[in-house]
Amino acid sequence: MTDASGNPEIQTGQKGRVIASEGIETKELPATLSKAWGDIHPYGNPHVWLDPVNAKQIASNIAAGLTRVDPSGKDAYAANLKAFTTKIDDSLYGHALVEEYGASKLERLSRRNELIDYLKTKHTYDKLGGWLKRAEPLRGLKILTYHKTWVYFCDRFGLDIRGEIEEKPGIPPSQDYLATLIKKINDDKIKVLFIDTIYPTKDGEFIAGKTGAKIVSSPIDLGGAPGTDDYFGLINTLLDRIVATAKA
Ligand SMILES: [Zn+2]
Repeated sequence: MTDASGNPEIQTGQKGRVIASEGIETKELPATLSKAWGDIHPYGNPHVWLDPVNAKQIASNIAAGLTRVDPSGKDAYAANLKAFTTKIDDSLYGHALVEEYGASKLERLSRRNELIDYLKTKHTYDKLGGWLKRAEPLRGLKILTYHKTWVYFCDRFGLDIRGEIEEKPGIPPSQDYLATLIKKINDDKIKVLFIDTIYPTKDGEFIAGKTGAKIVSSPIDLGGAPGTDDYFGLINTLLDRIVATAKA
C-alpha cells in the first residue's frame, strides 16, 4: 500500500516508515504462506489494536517513528506517549491496581494471561478496576463473530470465540455453512454474535432469527460508532454494548 503512495520517505527501510504492529506477537500465524485463512489474513491475524495492551506498543512505535522524522519534537512525543500509556493502564486495570503492582508487572502478567489468577491467589482481586473489571461478566461468554476480528480483544477480556460466520476471512457463508452454524449455536448454547459495523448484517440476522442469539453491532475503529472518537471511547463502547447484550 505504501508503494502506491508515491512518497519515497515511507518505503521499506526509510526512516519515515512506521510498522505500527512491530513487536506485537501475531496470532494465527500460518506455518506456510497460504490461503488457509482466506485472502485477507495471509500474514496472520492483523487486528492487533483491539487489545489495549497492544495499543501501548502501537503508540510507542508511532512515537518512535515521529521522533525519527522530527527529532526536534522528541520531548513532546515522549510526553504524549507517556500520557497515553498511563491512561491505558489506569483504564485497563484501574488506578488502584496500578498503584499496588506497577504497570510493567501488570503488563507482564497480562501478556501471559495470568493476571486474574494471580490477583485471586494474592487476594488482591478486589483492587482490579477499569475495563478488566467491567469485563468480569463476559469471561467465558460463548460468542460467534462475523469476521476473525476479535481474537486479540477476546483473549484480553476472556470471551470464548466458538467460530466465525464467515467461512474464511473475506468469504461470506454459504447456505450449508449457515445451517452448520445454527446447529452449533444451539448445541453449544452460544448467546451472542459479534457483527463488525463494517460488515453486512443479513447473515447474522438470519442466524439470530433461527436461534435467539443476540447481535452486538461492534465498531472496530475510531469513528465506527457514536462515542468512538478516541481509543478509550472505542473500548468503552465495545464493553458497554457487549455487557448490555450479555445481560439482556
Ligand atoms: Zn481481518
